[in-house]
Amino acid sequence: MIEQQSIENKNTNNSDILTTSLYNLRQSAGRLELDDHIIARIAEPKEKIEITIDPILSNGETAHVKAFVVRHNDVLGPAKGGIRMTNSVTMDDIVGLSMEMTWKTSLIGVPFGGGKSGIRCDPASLSPEAREIIIRSFTRGIRRHIGPEIYIPAPDMGTNEEDMGHVRDCIAYSNGTSITKGCFVTGKPVILGGIVGRREATGKGVIFTTLAACEKIGIDITKARIAVQGFGNVGMIAAAWAAKSGASVIAVSDITGGIINEQGLDIDALREHVKETSGVRGFQDATETTNNAVLDAPCDILIPAATQSQITKTNADKIKAKIIAEGANSPITPDADELLNRRGIFIIPDILCNAGGVFVSFLEYTQETQREQMTYEQVEQRLRDRMVEKFDEVYNYSLEKHITMRQAAMDIAVGKVVEGIYSRGLLP
Ligand code: GLU
Repeated sequence: MIEQQSIENKNTNNSDILTTSLYNLRQSAGRLELDDHIIARIAEPKEKIEITIDPILSNGETAHVKAFVVRHNDVLGPAKGGIRMTNSVTMDDIVGLSMEMTWKTSLIGVPFGGGKSGIRCDPASLSPEAREIIIRSFTRGIRRHIGPEIYIPAPDMGTNEEDMGHVRDCIAYSNGTSITKGCFVTGKPVILGGIVGRREATGKGVIFTTLAACEKIGIDITKARIAVQGFGNVGMIAAAWAAKSGASVIAVSDITGGIINEQGLDIDALREHVKETSGVRGFQDATETTNNAVLDAPCDILIPAATQSQITKTNADKIKAKIIAEGANSPITPDADELLNRRGIFIIPDILCNAGGVFVSFLEYTQETQREQMTYEQVEQRLRDRMVEKFDEVYNYSLEKHITMRQAAMDIAVGKVVEGIYSRGLLP
C-alpha cells in the first residue's frame, strides 16, 4: 500500500511533533477505514515553502534566518495557524503543527484549513528593533503566501500581538493603503483591528474544557489542585482562570524553574513577580523545585502548556493527576499516551483543549471582514459556548465508540475533512 508506506516513511523525520501527528492520523485512518488515496492526500501538506531572510539589523550586523510556511490542507477553508519563532524549529515541526491545525479548525468548526509558519531564531536574543526587522523581513519574504483566502497567520510560541501588528503594517504599507481588504493576520493589537479577548482565548478555552471534564468525572473544581507547566500566554491565563474558578494552583514552572506550594499559589502576585523578574523563580511563599517535579506534583489536574513531548514513557508513570488538559501542542508522546490511557487518566487532547485561540481568531477574521465590532462579553460567551459544545460532542462520541477523547477528537476532525474532500469532488 503506497499511501500507508508514505505515512510510515514520514516517521523517519527528526521531529517529535510530526511523528506524533502522523501516529495519530494513522490510528484515525485505520478506525475510519479511509481509502488509501484519501490517506495519501491528508498525510502530506499541500504546500511547503522554505525561505531564507538576510536583513541588516540596526547594529549593522546581518541576520541569516531560515523560515518555513506550510499549508497542510485547505479543503474546509484558507489555511490558519500561528508563526512559531524558536531557535530549533524545523520544517518537519511546521509540517506536523500545520497538520494539527487542520484537525483543530475542523474539530472546533471554523471554516479554515491548517497552516503554520516557523522562524528559526531565538526571540530572547533579539532587541525589540531586531525583532521587528526580522518579522517584517519574514512577512515580505512570504507575502505571496499570505492572504484572507490563502493563509492567515497568528501568534504562536515565541511571537505575540505586537509582531502581528508589524505583519499587518508591512502588508498595508506595501499596498500603500491604511487597511487591507479582508483579514490577513489575526491576534493583532486591538487598536489595529484585533479582537478583544484574543490574547486570553487559548488559556480560557483550556479552563472551559477542564471545567467540562471535571463535571463529567465528578471533580469539584473548588477542591481541585492544579499544576501548570509553562507560564507563557497559555499557562499564565489558564492558571489565572483556574484560580478564578475556585481551584488551587499548587505548582507552576517555566524556563527559569519550578515552584510549588501545596496550600496554593497567589496567581495575581505571581504574575506581578513574572512581570518584574521575567520568570517564576524566586517567588515568595513557594518552594523551588524542578520542571519535572511540577509534572508529577500531587495534583488533580495537570496542564502542560509549555512545549511538545514533555510527557514521555519515562515520566508518564509518575503523573498523579486525574485530568491532563493539553494547553500546548503535542505535549504527550504516543507511547506515554498509551500508558496514561491504561491508567485511566482523562486527557483533553490539544486539538480540542487549546482550540480557543483559533476560534477567537475566526471571530477576529469575521469582525474585520464585516467591519464589525464585538464586545469582550460577546467574545467570551461565544468562546465558552463553542468550547463546551465541542467538548460534549467529543465526549459523547468517545462514549458511543468506546474510544479515548483523543481518538474521538481525531476521528470527528479527520472525518469532517474527508467529507469536505468528497463534497468538493476528486477532480482537479
Ligand atoms: N497558534 C495558535 C494555535 O496553535 C493559534 C492559531 C491561530 O489563531 O490561527 O492554535
